[in-house]
Amino acid sequence: MKRIAILGSTGSIGTQALEVIAANPDSFELEVITAYSNTDLLIEQALLFKPNVVVIAREDLYPIVRDALQNEDIKVYAGANALCSVVEMGTVDMVLTAMVGYAGLQPTIRAIQAGKEIALANKETLVVAGQLITELAREKGVNIYPVDSEHSAIFQCLTGEFHNPIEKIILTASGGPFRGRTIEELQYVTKVQALKHPNWDMGAKITIDSASLMNKGLEVIEAKWLFGLSNDQIDVVVHPQSIIHSLVQFQDGSIKAQLGLPDMKLPIQYAMGYPNRLKSDYPRFNFLDYPQLTFEQPDLKTFRNLQLAFDAMAQGGNMPCILNAANEIAVGAFLRDEVGFLEMSDLIESCMAKVTYIAHPSLSDYVETDRETRLLATDFVKNKTV
Ligand code: NAD
Ligand code: MG
Repeated sequence: MKRIAILGSTGSIGTQALEVIAANPDSFELEVITAYSNTDLLIEQALLFKPNVVVIAREDLYPIVRDALQNEDIKVYAGANALCSVVEMGTVDMVLTAMVGYAGLQPTIRAIQAGKEIALANKETLVVAGQLITELAREKGVNIYPVDSEHSAIFQCLTGEFHNPIEKIILTASGGPFRGRTIEELQYVTKVQALKHPNWDMGAKITIDSASLMNKGLEVIEAKWLFGLSNDQIDVVVHPQSIIHSLVQFQDGSIKAQLGLPDMKLPIQYAMGYPNRLKSDYPRFNFLDYPQLTFEQPDLKTFRNLQLAFDAMAQGGNMPCILNAANEIAVGAFLRDEVGFLEMSDLIESCMAKVTYIAHPSLSDYVETDRETRLLATDFVKNKTV
């Protein structure tokens, strides 16, 4: 029986993780759920699953959650610090980091310091501070299990192969809703168009990242740290059907792939249940329904965010942290119609050129870099010449 804390239980990954827990009551027990602001869903989840602890990150919403759960044997806390404290509780075995963005960094560090297993969905944490996080995990003997479907695919291909060096990995990308478009065509695309992903139903931020290919860029950096790879060991190929979730090539030239219908519940339950494959009744993939699986080169000139992510990884230090913070501000601004689709790349490039570069950042350097980048990026949005 594994006791699970879900950070971000009201999101796309969080709600699917709850489905996995509900379907496997002999394997998992829900100990903690947390959310940022969706009190209605958080309360509903608490009444249904009866975890021991509930955290609402926005402190002003605390009375709503407390009052709704006052007749239950459930502790209710509020605030960002509470997120960091609850992951340290003795009753938690594994923390699923399903919150979005930089806000996941501190609780993930605290969970690793407390020796908790991590099921990592929050890729931004590894993008911002991959070296620090993986070194800390090694020092504490903590395993980080990937939830991201591509990284789960690679992890599944590596099972039984941990003694065999990787030659390279190939991350597959769907290409998103704008695959094949030209720069001219991308100039006036709207958030409504960008929010329609062809294969996956996800939170707003990652859906915009998928449309701009920044998601693949973040995943390249995530893979570097998860699997200890050098930059030239990571390739990206566009595979619009999203059936092959990623591939590993070994030193004998053999390539292993993991396949399946796009459904995040599988990688979530693989991360939570490892090393066991839990029985599921999700729809099965049938080759005859997909007579053609196709592959293309990503268009790095049109989808500049992917190139910027490769550049940030090559420069190292705090550059991926700058990339991430600038992107979070860019996506927020795009979702509020304050910048256009292509302007997101202009904003990120400008921040990468201007924010103070630090070759060997400490945790406090990352915090300062994130702050400095957000200020600059916010300025960019306010003062941009349209
Ligand atoms: P989402 O927007 O649907 O949900 C985000 C969750 O985080 C919500 O529960 C929200 O309450 C919480 N949250 C947001 N900001 C917070 C803050 N400042 N403090 C505390 N909690 C906060 O996002 P999602 O699509 O579920 O994605 C979550 C993470 O998983 C992201 O890092 C994303 O890149 C990654 N991921 C998602 C998918 C997917 O299919 N959705 C696939 C792979 C990886
Ligand atoms: Mg992914």
